[in-house]
Amino acid sequence: MSTITANVEQANAYRSLKDKVILITGASTGIGRAIAIETARQGANVVVNYIGKADAAQEVVREIENDHGTALAIEADVSKSDQVQHMISQAVSHLGRVDVLVNNAGIEKESPFLDKPESEFDAVIGVNLKGPFLCTQAAARDMAKRKKGTIINISSVHEDLPFPGYSAYCAAKGGLRMLCRDLALELAPHGINIVNVAPGAIDTPINKRTLSNPEKKLALKREIPLGRVGEPQEVAKLVCYLASDDAAYITGTTVVIDGGLMHQTGSL
Ligand code: NAD
Repeated sequence: MSTITANVEQANAYRSLKDKVILITGASTGIGRAIAIETARQGANVVVNYIGKADAAQEVVREIENDHGTALAIEADVSKSDQVQHMISQAVSHLGRVDVLVNNAGIEKESPFLDKPESEFDAVIGVNLKGPFLCTQAAARDMAKRKKGTIINISSVHEDLPFPGYSAYCAAKGGLRMLCRDLALELAPHGINIVNVAPGAIDTPINKRTLSNPEKKLALKREIPLGRVGEPQEVAKLVCYLASDDAAYITGTTVVIDGGLMHQTGSL
């Protein structure tokens, strides 16, 4: 064996997601984008789900391919069951199966509870809670046939922490907390583990309004014991571990990644 071949094999040995097929919802921006790029770097074949503009998703695919990875962009609204079914069957027909599903797509809308429109509540619950329900059911039906699979939900510290103005968001993430715990029991006999990742404040488009305002950004940083906002790549690296076989014994729980925010008194 040549030295180069040996080095490549050695490098591949550390690619903990080699040959796994990972589908990430809402993967054209923010945390989902970082997860797509990082999991591909770790050897996974990646499905980049997106809604709306295809350019950003295609750019993620190109970035992965330029780094010698395999990726495929599939459009689907995660809150629509027919589109979700179609997405999973497309992923299976192109890449053979889905080993890991990352329910990352999410929206955040602020309004005082007494004025919150029904349509806003429906939209947030539709994407943030019904979306993971539909995607998990469709993916788990395929995983159950092979008695192996992993579901990762990108939840939030707000699965536990109240956030005035964001009652629909908190209800959705709180619901995701119990969906994870319930499905851990229901899906365990099928060889499927499920875990929530609860980020605190991460520098992504969802926080644009706060992070582009210097005063609001400073106030936010003061709430975080580690004194800074997190990076999407930090969440992505945690997801890589949870998606790997090394983490197959973790199920029905939430891993928090928040710089200590949840422990701060008087926080958000
Ligand atoms: P983001 O706005 O960049 O990402 C959300 C993605 O979801 C976007 O790409 C969007 O197009 C996609 N999306 C929205 N509706 C969709 C639908 N119906 N179908 C498919 N995709 C859809 O923001 P982000 O911060 O990267 O958010 C990712 C996840 O992380 C969300 O679930 C969010 O609640 C969660 N989260 C973010 C933070 C943070 O501080 N950024 C903190 C805690 C949790």
